[in-house]
Amino acid sequence: MPVKADFVIVHANELLTMRGASERPKVGDEMRDLGIIRDGAVAVRDGRIVAVGTTKEVLDRVEKGFELVDASGKVVSPGFIDAHVHLVFKGTREDELEMMIEGKTYLEIKRRGGGMPRTLRLTRAASLWELVEETKKILDLMLIHGTTTIEAKSGYEMTFEGEIKQLEVIRTLNKIHPIDLVPTFCAQAIPPEWEGRGDEFTREIVEKWLPEIARRGLAEYADVFCEVGFFNVDQARRILVRARELGMKLRIHADWLAHSGGGELGAELGVVSADHLIHTPMDVIDRLAAKGVLGVLLPTTPFCYLGKYANAREIIRRGLPIALGTDLSAINMSESMQMMMTIAALQMKMTPAEVFTAATINAAHSINRAHEIGSIEEGKKADIIILDMPNHKFIPFHYGVNLVEMVFKNGKLVAEKGRLVQ
Ligand SMILES: [Zn+2]
Repeated sequence: MPVKADFVIVHANELLTMRGASERPKVGDEMRDLGIIRDGAVAVRDGRIVAVGTTKEVLDRVEKGFELVDASGKVVSPGFIDAHVHLVFKGTREDELEMMIEGKTYLEIKRRGGGMPRTLRLTRAASLWELVEETKKILDLMLIHGTTTIEAKSGYEMTFEGEIKQLEVIRTLNKIHPIDLVPTFCAQAIPPEWEGRGDEFTREIVEKWLPEIARRGLAEYADVFCEVGFFNVDQARRILVRARELGMKLRIHADWLAHSGGGELGAELGVVSADHLIHTPMDVIDRLAAKGVLGVLLPTTPFCYLGKYANAREIIRRGLPIALGTDLSAINMSESMQMMMTIAALQMKMTPAEVFTAATINAAHSINRAHEIGSIEEGKKADIIILDMPNHKFIPFHYGVNLVEMVFKNGKLVAEKGRLVQ
């Protein structure tokens, strides 16, 4: 059947299709299969992918009257999907990183007026439009580095009005920015004014915040920071169970700083994603896998907290599907999935193919979008990037620079050679 196309990307040295994994994420050795087509081509019409194959196969099928995009010597991949982003905040904490380099602990930094309370204070004082402006800069950088969809969390105000404001910022940006944002309400911390009253604070979230967030349709997911000094397992369970009753899907911050029970709770509730998994015992990884949970690993977090990495090799061996995210936050500022993928490969020993799978189709599963994005297959959205590198193994080999040359979002060229295309 001949097809009409607006444009056709041709002669990709490697076209990474990620095909055949829209129903369930890739696990174990499947993560190494990128469905590569050599001398690959992809045809796009009205924002959708209409043909995929070798350049000859696709050009034989497409009717005349399309534009050609030459990807000779380059890699064509689905747009990157960032599975874990603390998006909305005011103020940065680079001075705290310096203190950590000099050996100060988080508690010492907090005593000196730093840490999460500082970000809460600054973000609460910012207006919605101030936050929209600040956050738009982050999204612009993500886009020129090849990210086309992100999971976007609130959580940096932890007041009723503040969290609604943050989710409104995400909603506003979703309308005005090319990147698609999947909104998550994140119970990220117990703020100073509630210190020592975690149970009462949890009741406030369960009885007042969640119903209002649901009524306004502001969050698709709910997430809880389940760690010692944050929400305990019982409090996290109460928040997640109520969120589910109100129609939200679930994710959890599990076992980042210590084995705190977040992994067990994630398995018990069958959350969509359990994130970090640095201190999770392997029998709990097995339970998560058995419940169909997806693990989101966040290698830039230990990278810039100078900490321990998740045991990605063993987690993959045990059959838990893995996605990757930047965990961008007020203390971890990198918009680049390429940088994060490099750290995943070099520090967690994931192969280049595994990091591509985890940053595309498996990340799409982590936000329930795998039928729309995450692979280059007919019918999917044309979220496609062209990387100026001859094969996918250049990540992590050629690092610290932006290898993304062109970014197409919904079939529209939105970034080229490190600049936004207006
Ligand atoms: Zn996080």
